[in-house]
Amino acid sequence: MADYQQVQSVRRLMGRISFRGDLLNELTELCASEGITLGRVEAIGAVSRAQIGFYNQQTRKYQNLVLEKEMEITSFSGNISLKDGKPFVHAHILLSDDTGATVGGHLMEGTQVFACEFIVEEFSGRTFERGFDEDTGLSLWIK
Ligand code: ZN
Repeated sequence: MADYQQVQSVRRLMGRISFRGDLLNELTELCASEGITLGRVEAIGAVSRAQIGFYNQQTRKYQNLVLEKEMEITSFSGNISLKDGKPFVHAHILLSDDTGATVGGHLMEGTQVFACEFIVEEFSGRTFERGFDEDTGLSLWIK
């Protein structure tokens, strides 16, 4: 049975990440400075390099993929919850290169923005707190 709750939209913040800024770090800092602990994020734009992860379900470790090239952010969405008492952004990104080929995965630190326009939406409701999940080895929302 799914564990869920109804949430209400409180406010939306719209803006852009700084040139050469780290996509994940800037969004996390924004949530911390605005006190956002429950919400969602979406963005489009371009990166000059990227670091994405693939969670290997057998080894239970993230395999990092470093992409040292210019790419478009064709899709980017994620959620905001709490981990270790601080806002935590969990986002997945789809990137396309100059041939239109796409690659995607779990957004890691080390993704450098060329230009990026985001929308962060804050929700009210019980905050989801992340904790160790035995079934997956991941840090998932605990009850
Ligand atoms: Zn992920």
